[in-house]
Amino acid sequence: MTFPPLREELRGVEPYGAPQLDVPVCLNVNENPYAPSAKVVADIATAVAEAAVTLNRYPDREFTELREGLAAYLNSSGGSGIVADQVWAANGSNEVMLQLLQAFGGPGRTAISFAPTYSMYPEYARDAMTGWVAGRRHEDFSFDLEHAAALIAEHTPSVILLPSPNNPTGTALPHDVIGTLCELAGDAIVVIDEAYAEFRREGTPSALELLPAYRNLVVSRTMSKAFSLAGARLGYLAAAPEICDALRVVRLPYHLSAVTQATASAALRHADELLGGVAALRSERDRTVAWLRAQGHQVADSDANFCLFGVFADRHAVWQGLLDRGVLIRETGPEGWLRVSIGTPEEMAAFQDALTDTLNHLL
Ligand code: PMP
Repeated sequence: MTFPPLREELRGVEPYGAPQLDVPVCLNVNENPYAPSAKVVADIATAVAEAAVTLNRYPDREFTELREGLAAYLNSSGGSGIVADQVWAANGSNEVMLQLLQAFGGPGRTAISFAPTYSMYPEYARDAMTGWVAGRRHEDFSFDLEHAAALIAEHTPSVILLPSPNNPTGTALPHDVIGTLCELAGDAIVVIDEAYAEFRREGTPSALELLPAYRNLVVSRTMSKAFSLAGARLGYLAAAPEICDALRVVRLPYHLSAVTQATASAALRHADELLGGVAALRSERDRTVAWLRAQGHQVADSDANFCLFGVFADRHAVWQGLLDRGVLIRETGPEGWLRVSIGTPEEMAAFQDALTDTLNHLL
């Protein structure tokens, strides 16, 4: 054994994460560009101050008030009749999904997704000692149900992980696909990762509507994106109570700090205001997609707060050109494609200028 005695499969592995660079325009990690208002900040600060008085004690392990607040929000955002027992939360939906893999994956079991997809999924599987299989999507990034059915039959996964809208493509899944997957999955769980659900276009449904029909369906959400609360680290899910109960077995005791619970509950009381930037971001997204297409680029249809565009012979040179001009985007997705998060109109104007200038120089 060599020192440190790292697990064999972790040797030489780089920690996950996009570069955190100090640049004027950051459009690389799908954050919300609109910071909470002074009023919301003041209310969060008061709630945190109240929680601080109790910090000598461990927090509510069941985070009951927060679960009730999240259930009420979900019922206003595509769900109906969801109660606190059907809600679970953790430090970011990253942690929620790791817990799902810890509870429902494990040695001898397999988790499956369909590429291109969120690049953290194989890491949850690895960290939960779960086998990992990645299928593919159609060329236009839509879901290939026939291929999925074959892969599920071949590998009998215990967890199927699918973002809708998908990251990095922005593609949402239709209800019939989700329903068919839940049926094909048998007793396996189907996790529809709705980190970007609030940004979906008019007419795109939420998987929350299907919860009453499928006991193996899990819908995860986050406060990091639409709620402008990435720094607070609060992700959550809705599912059958048995699924939430099982997660209580693998969570660390008191995993949600009193400060996190107070922050998230205060933010939920201001949901309308915090979500106020969503409409502007959706329009800005549609404008960005139209502009990129008008420049002759390919752009995947997007239901999220980002879009994937290409195809560039040397995408790294384009990414670097933008960075040299003060605009940080993400080099991710299939070869030749780049992903840009949607920012303020000023930030998107800076992105457009930087892209135009970069491509003129590269010609
Ligand atoms: N799911 C998807 C599809 C994501 O893109 C992200 C964040 N990039 C997450 C989950 C995790 O978000 P968080 O941990 O901040 O809730």
